[in-house]
Amino acid sequence: MFAQAPQLKKQRSLQELRLLIRRCEIISEKVVGQKPTSLRLKPMKSQWGSCNSKGVIAINTKLMYLPERLVAYVVHHEVVHLKIHNHGVNFKQLVEQLFPDRLMLDRQLRLVAPILKQK
Ligand SMILES: [Zn+2]
Repeated sequence: MFAQAPQLKKQRSLQELRLLIRRCEIISEKVVGQKPTSLRLKPMKSQWGSCNSKGVIAINTKLMYLPERLVAYVVHHEVVHLKIHNHGVNFKQLVEQLFPDRLMLDRQLRLVAPILKQK
């Protein structure tokens, strides 16, 4: 998808990202069987999303720049963390229920990681 460190174009507004994340969240919740305490959008410099032990999920506003499938993947990753707080075998299996191509998606996220540092 991305041959090199990309100059990415904005794919959607913050409001559109919010709606997209909500749609993705509902699908992931069905698979995982858990809901976040709250889900926030915020700018982050080193990660696409996070999930803390209180069940609060934060999603990076930089996802405005990424394709829908990668947004859905990041959301699913964090929703799976509501149930499994590590990246072990069980975590990977639950991620793969929606994203069997997770290794390729991980690679794509690493390729676009430089945009995390950009303003
Ligand atoms: Zn994780």
